[in-house]
Amino acid sequence: MRSVILGGGLAGCEAALQLAREGFSVELLDCKPQFLNRDVYLNPDLAELVCSNSLKSEAPSTASYLFKQEMKILGSFLLETAYRCSVPAGASLAVNRNEFSRKVLKMICDTPSIIFNQGVKVNSVDELKDRYKGDFYVVATGPLTEQSLLFSIAGTSGSFYDAIAPLVTLESIDQSECFWGSRYGKGDPDFLNVPLNKEQYEMFVNELLQADKIPWTSIEKPEFFERCMPIEVLAERGFKTLSFGPFRPVGFEFRGKRPYAVIQLRAENEEKSVLNLVGCQTRMRQGEQKRVFRTLPGMKNVEFVRYGSVHRNSFINAPLVLDNGVKVKSMDNVFIAGQLTGVEGYNESIFSGLWAALNIVHKSKGGSSEEFLPPENTMTGGLLRKMMLHSDNFQPVNANFSLINNPNTLKKKERKEFYVKSGIESFSRWAETTFKNKRDISQD
Ligand SMILES: Cc1cc2nc3c(=O)[nH]c(=O)nc-3n(C[C@H](O)[C@H](O)[C@H](O)COP(=O)(O)OP(=O)(O)OC[C@H]3O[C@@H](n4cnc5c(N)ncnc54)[C@H](O)[C@@H]3O)c2cc1C
Repeated sequence: MRSVILGGGLAGCEAALQLAREGFSVELLDCKPQFLNRDVYLNPDLAELVCSNSLKSEAPSTASYLFKQEMKILGSFLLETAYRCSVPAGASLAVNRNEFSRKVLKMICDTPSIIFNQGVKVNSVDELKDRYKGDFYVVATGPLTEQSLLFSIAGTSGSFYDAIAPLVTLESIDQSECFWGSRYGKGDPDFLNVPLNKEQYEMFVNELLQADKIPWTSIEKPEFFERCMPIEVLAERGFKTLSFGPFRPVGFEFRGKRPYAVIQLRAENEEKSVLNLVGCQTRMRQGEQKRVFRTLPGMKNVEFVRYGSVHRNSFINAPLVLDNGVKVKSMDNVFIAGQLTGVEGYNESIFSGLWAALNIVHKSKGGSSEEFLPPENTMTGGLLRKMMLHSDNFQPVNANFSLINNPNTLKKKERKEFYVKSGIESFSRWAETTFKNKRDISQD
C-alpha cells in the first residue's frame, strides 16, 4: 500500500513513521525550506516546535499525563523522541527543540520505506492526487494552511488566532530580583520567577493597556482560543485577570511572603541560557515589548531572542467535514491530521497524526471507523468524541478532564487520580484487544 503525506510537521512525521511501521510505503512532502512562512516557522526543520518547547505536565494527576500515557501505549514515535531530548522543566516535559527536530529527521531518513520530498508546495487536494499517486492521502499542513488547500478539503472553514511568547536571554536578567523554583516546590526548580508587589503589577498592567499594538485588519476576526489569549487581551478584561491567570502567585514565596503576582520564565535549552516568558503571548509592537517588559523587576536590560507575536490559525469544522476515522466524508481516501483537524497543541497534533495512520491501516484491512474508538473514560476517547460532536461554533480542543465521561463523587484531587488510573486501565485493555501486536515502542 502506498500513502502520500502532505506536511512534515508534528502530525505528518508521526503519521509517516507509523505507516512505515505497518509496512506502507510513504512519500512525505513539505514545502520547507523553499516556502517557509517566516512569521511562524523559524527554520527548515521537520517537526518544528514553533513556540514553547513544552509538551506539558508530567504530574501523574493531570490530563496531559493521562493523554501521554495513552500515546505511549499506542507507540508514538515523536513522544518517545521528546523524552529522549528532554531538558529540565520542573514537572513538565520540555525538550531541546533543535535536537528533537534533528532526531525526527534522522528517523525519517533512516526508514527505507519513506521518501522525503522537500520544497514541494501543493495548493489543493486535486493537485496532490494528480501529482502524487497513492492509495491513501494524509493532509497535515498545520494551522497556517492556505485558504485554497483548506477550501479544497472542506469547502467551509473556521479560523482563530493564537500567539507566541517572547524569548529572552538569562544573562541579561538581574537574578537578584528573581528566584528559581517551581509552584509548590514540585519537581526541580527549573523556572526563573519574577515576583511583583501590587504597585509593580499595577504599573505593568497599565503599561500593557497603553502600549502600541498591531491593529486587527478589517478581514481579521479575533476569535482566540482561551489558553492562547494575548496578555493585553487578558489585561483588558480586568485589573486582576492576569494575577488570577498566567501570573498567579499561589504556591510561591519570595523573601518570606507570597508576592502579589509572579511572572514565570521557563528554560528553552539545557544550559538555561534562553528563557520563555510563560503566558506572555502578545500583539504589542516589538519596540513596545522591549519597553514594557523592561519595566519588570530584574528585566531593565533584558535582551530578546524572539519577540512575541499573534498569528491566524486555520482549522476545519471537523464534525461536519470528517467521519469518525478522520477521513474527509466527501473523499474516498483522504485523511486529515494535526492542528488542521481542530485539535490544539503539540501532543494533540502528534496524536492526531498517529490516529490518522491507525485509521488508514484499519481501513486498508476493510475495517470501519465506527468500531474503532477508545473508551469514553480515556483522554484520547474523549478528545475524539469531542471532535465528532456537532456544534454551532466548533472550536479547537485540547486534552483536559472535562472530555472524560466517568461519573464519580470523589473530591477534586482524588477525582483526577481516579480519572488517570481508570483511564490508563481502560485504554490498556482496549489497545490490547484492538491491536494484536505490541505497540509500545519504548520497550522495543
Ligand atoms: C504561532 C503558533 C504558536 C503555537 N504554539 C504552541 C505551543 O506553544 N504549544 C503547543 O502545544 N501548541 C502550539 N501551537 C499549536 C500546534 O500545536 C502547533 O502548530 C503544531 O506544530 C501543529 O502541528 P501540525 O503537524 O498540525 O502542523 P505543523 O507542525 O505546523 O506542520 C505543518 C507542516 O506542513 C507544511 N506545509 C504547510 N502548507 C503546506 C503546503 N501547502 N504544501 C506543503 N507543505 C505544507 C509546513 O511547512 C509544516 O512543516 C502553536 C501554533 C501556532 C500557529
